Amino acid sequence: MKPEKALIFELSKPGRIAYSLPECDVPDVEPSELIPSHLLRSKTAEFPEVYEVDVIRHYTELSRRNFGIDNGFYPLGSCTMKYNPKINEDVARFSGFAKIHPYQPEESIQGALELLYTLQNDLAALTGMDQVTLQPAAGAHGEWTGLMLIRAYHESRGEQRTKVIVPDSSHGTNPASATTAGFATITIPSNERGMVDLDALRAAVGADTAALMLTNPSTLGLFEEQIVEIAEIIHEAGGLLYYDGANSNAIMGIARPGDMGFDVVHLNLHKTMSTPHGGGGPGAGPVGVKNKLIPFLPRPVVCKQADGTFAWDFDRPQSIGRVKAFYGNFGILVRAYAYIRTYGPEGLRRVSECAVLNANYMMNRLAPYYEVAYPGVCKHEFVLSGKKLKAFGLRTLDVAKRLLDFGYHPPTIYFPLNVEECIMIEPTETESKETLDAFIDAMIQIIEEAEHDPDLVRNAPYTTVVKRLDEATAARKPVLNCNCG
Ligand SMILES: *Cc1c(COP(=O)(O)O)cnc(C)c1O
Repeated sequence: MKPEKALIFELSKPGRIAYSLPECDVPDVEPSELIPSHLLRSKTAEFPEVYEVDVIRHYTELSRRNFGIDNGFYPLGSCTMKYNPKINEDVARFSGFAKIHPYQPEESIQGALELLYTLQNDLAALTGMDQVTLQPAAGAHGEWTGLMLIRAYHESRGEQRTKVIVPDSSHGTNPASATTAGFATITIPSNERGMVDLDALRAAVGADTAALMLTNPSTLGLFEEQIVEIAEIIHEAGGLLYYDGANSNAIMGIARPGDMGFDVVHLNLHKTMSTPHGGGGPGAGPVGVKNKLIPFLPRPVVCKQADGTFAWDFDRPQSIGRVKAFYGNFGILVRAYAYIRTYGPEGLRRVSECAVLNANYMMNRLAPYYEVAYPGVCKHEFVLSGKKLKAFGLRTLDVAKRLLDFGYHPPTIYFPLNVEECIMIEPTETESKETLDAFIDAMIQIIEEAEHDPDLVRNAPYTTVVKRLDEATAARKPVLNCNCG
């Protein structure tokens, strides 16, 4: 048995320090001369007193408790946890990109402006849109920006449109963004094939419809076959179509939202275009629009001038204004640019083909063991139902926990909300057949364990640092410091 690791506070011994500094040669000042006394500590902060090596081991140990795509397979549906080529990290760190300042004069950052301009055009071409803004910092931020553009568009025409329609399979950020942008949301049901129910859509649409928000393929991993008809219904009523392109892995180089009838699109560069994500780090959610919405785009817009140089255009009287400090998360945009240039149009198409192939392979191998929620051909992800686990007194959650013992990050569970005991798997294109097979074998072993030894599954995980957590209490009464005693 390995001994339990001592916590850093338990290692503390008075007088131990992790640094050596020369004597201070600045005169001492009474803290109360600088800071009002009621803001001063009455008692010295209790930091652990430890050697440098203890600090390093503490943080290294913590870092090993993390699971990331560089540790193993991470089939978290709707999150596109794919491998991000390390060369794009190098490129984003080039000093010419990483060390420039947003207040530098335009003539000294022509390369950066050209990169932004080219990336905008590439993303517009990829999505079938007329222009793109790179400012939004995340998918949800892009949604909100897009909805504010839609709002500005309707208002410029003197129309009061207050409602946004979303299907019940939509990502939770869709209704949240609509509400934040000041709209009321109407949720419409999916039909038995997981598609938008056209009758329900017709009944929900009216003179107050501002937009329909849709993901295609949907969060069920299904391509919405009636998209052209859906677009007609919305446009005829004077509404616009918003495309949640957070997961573009399935359609790059194959189908474009702009051609399907969408007016506004956001992309998640941190899912599809090679920025590591998952820990809440910076992202980018560029928004593309059709011509009629261009005047409202966030200010400033990077443009190419007649003499071939690049400049910021602030003269946009109808703009909704800035949505982000400066010009967006530049480092993320550099990674996306490098990713697109590396693959080229053919390569991006191949990315999507492989993402879809991998998902269909897994779905078909798992189909005899877990119920496939919507049989047929899926796109980049697919949804299983863990309903049959109930017969063994188990739930989808138990399978997810047991997968941890096999060294996998579990798939997304209990989303989308319209599938009972939902398990949503997205393998991505960057995994080998061996990895997919090993994960499938683990899933099959778990369903067999569930049948023959349900307690084994019910009490999992066994191999992780922390075992089953009381997730409800953790969310409602979080204990956020370690020195909790
Ligand atoms: C991830 C995701 C979002 C939200 O993106 P964030 O960058 O996390 O704000 C929106 N819609 C879908 C379908 C997603 O998968």
